[in-house]
Amino acid sequence: MVILLDKAGRVLAVNSAWRTSAAQIIEGAHYWQSLTALLPQLAQIPLLCAGVAAVLAGFEEQYALEFTAELDAIPGTFKLRAVRIPEITPAKNTLPDQGCTLLSIDNISERSRAQALLAFHAQHDPLTELPNRVLFFERLQEFLDEAAPGRANVALLLVDLDHFKNINDTLGHPLGDVLLQQVAQRLVSCLRNGDITARLGGDEFAMILRNFSHPNDAGLVATKIMRALAPPFRLAESEVFVTASIGITVAPRDGEDLHELLRNADIAMYRAKDLGKNAFAFFTNDMNERLAQHQILTMALRTALERDEFRLVYQPLVEVHSGVVSGVEALLRWKHPDLGEVSPGVFIPIAEETGLIVPIGAWVLRTACQQIKLWQEAGLQKLKVSVNVSARQLRGSRFLPQLRRVLVETEIFPQSLELELTESMLAENPTELVVKLQQIKALGVRLSLDDFGTGYSSLSNLSRFPFDTLKIDQSFVRAIDVDNQNSQGNALVKTVISLGHTLGFSVLAEGVETDQQAQFLRTHGSDSMQGYLISKPLSARETAKFLSPAPYAANWRAPPPSSAPSAPPMRMDRPVLSPESSKTGSRSH
Ligand code: C2E
Ligand code: MG
Ligand code: MG
Repeated sequence: MVILLDKAGRVLAVNSAWRTSAAQIIEGAHYWQSLTALLPQLAQIPLLCAGVAAVLAGFEEQYALEFTAELDAIPGTFKLRAVRIPEITPAKNTLPDQGCTLLSIDNISERSRAQALLAFHAQHDPLTELPNRVLFFERLQEFLDEAAPGRANVALLLVDLDHFKNINDTLGHPLGDVLLQQVAQRLVSCLRNGDITARLGGDEFAMILRNFSHPNDAGLVATKIMRALAPPFRLAESEVFVTASIGITVAPRDGEDLHELLRNADIAMYRAKDLGKNAFAFFTNDMNERLAQHQILTMALRTALERDEFRLVYQPLVEVHSGVVSGVEALLRWKHPDLGEVSPGVFIPIAEETGLIVPIGAWVLRTACQQIKLWQEAGLQKLKVSVNVSARQLRGSRFLPQLRRVLVETEIFPQSLELELTESMLAENPTELVVKLQQIKALGVRLSLDDFGTGYSSLSNLSRFPFDTLKIDQSFVRAIDVDNQNSQGNALVKTVISLGHTLGFSVLAEGVETDQQAQFLRTHGSDSMQGYLISKPLSARETAKFLSPAPYAANWRAPPPSSAPSAPPMRMDRPVLSPESSKTGSRSH
């Protein structure tokens, strides 16, 4: 709503976008009288009236305030702005002084609700609503900072459920999720006020204890936890028994900082597993084998590139409405001759820590672009390939020249390359990053924001970055509850989709595993999706096969929308070449 006021605060004109049954703003009346009739709670904010008065009188150029009030009995958040416009003198002005004031009031409830939901999600696990890894680290750091030096008064308990994978495989993921929720409740019931229970991921929980008299008290809590988990869990028709293995560290004895405390608690937890599970163990110094494992991986990673141990796999992504494969995401794989396949979840963090991600990332970029070239020569001009880029790669001054060189060398269409950045990267140095991203966009390369919702980026900030696509993190998709339409998880996914669209991005959902999730995402307007439902990551050769029409059609089970004509399962040009056959120039049909 916009209201033009003369210097005495009388309404000269009003333009209201609000449909309301409440009182209206009346021209000629004093604005405060009309406004408090419309939003009665304003009468309790004298500060606001004084702020506007200062602008009316010309003491201030502008004034703004956010407030909560009810409009038509619906509570909302509003933003009022008063701006003085000295150069406009209204025709109806009866006062000797020049100028008037523009008052705007916006209902920003939707945005503040989204902001609050996102803030909560960034620090909490959507399934159990316990603090997540981020909040857990924050709290642990605070407690360590507060602790009296040299005194043991912070203990860390790492709780890992035994055989959870079997339970998940037997009962299915939805019941596995219910079980995790029930476990979370029992864990919380074991702690005192002020202590913390968090879910670090999967079936791994962590607890922080404070203010105990002796480190051994942590062992008593561990026993209490094991007892609390002992009674069977009721899941649908069945009863399930769950045990846990618990590793314990006590600060400062078992670690200088939170990373060391957590790493050592992890080592102790594995010792509890070795003891036969359903057990707890305090960390002791002889448990350092796992640390040695970390060092072995670091050494092996240093030579992995020159020994040609990396390869790329490609995970298809499809447009939700048509089922057309619009692109693939390149994902890195490492197979060491002795250690076997090492998961990216394990080696990417080591590569980042050591800086090895810079040469490895450069290899990924070049290899992916060479593959794009092969696919383009095979007639797949429209296939988009996304490449993950880490913060460390982008930070240096070499990334942009490197990207230019690869584009020139491989002669690919730049718009077929998309770079994925993670949300946490936006916080570092936003102004510098915006410039860098604009330079990348100027080359014609597309940009997407990966794992959206896991790091908390301010929404207003987000619109500054020139992204094409927003990739909703898997944890959101996993939180979709098809049996309970009104669940918080569902509300969150809907909000994030509409938010993405409001900011002008195309929205992609990651980690889609079930038909129900796909259906939900379709109904609520996600543009594309990626996940095991469509395909696991494939080798280049398998990708080429996947892109030929028949296999994909068999995988696509979501029905087309009733209004839109049904699209063919594949619009990609055929035939498709595998990289091997393209070298010989032969075409495989
Ligand atoms: P990301 O970029 O978010 O990639 C998606 C991850 O989710 C991949 O794991 C993929 O295999 C997995 N995924 C896809 N669909 C599903 C599904 O339906 N269910 C489940 N549970 N998982 C699914 P992956 O390959 O293990 O990669 C993990 C992370 O490692 C990636 O997450 C990315 O952050 C990083 N990464 C992988 N390759 C590279 C790379 O070349 N460079 C950099 N900097 N990071 C990479
Ligand atoms: Mg990615
Ligand atoms: Mg992702």
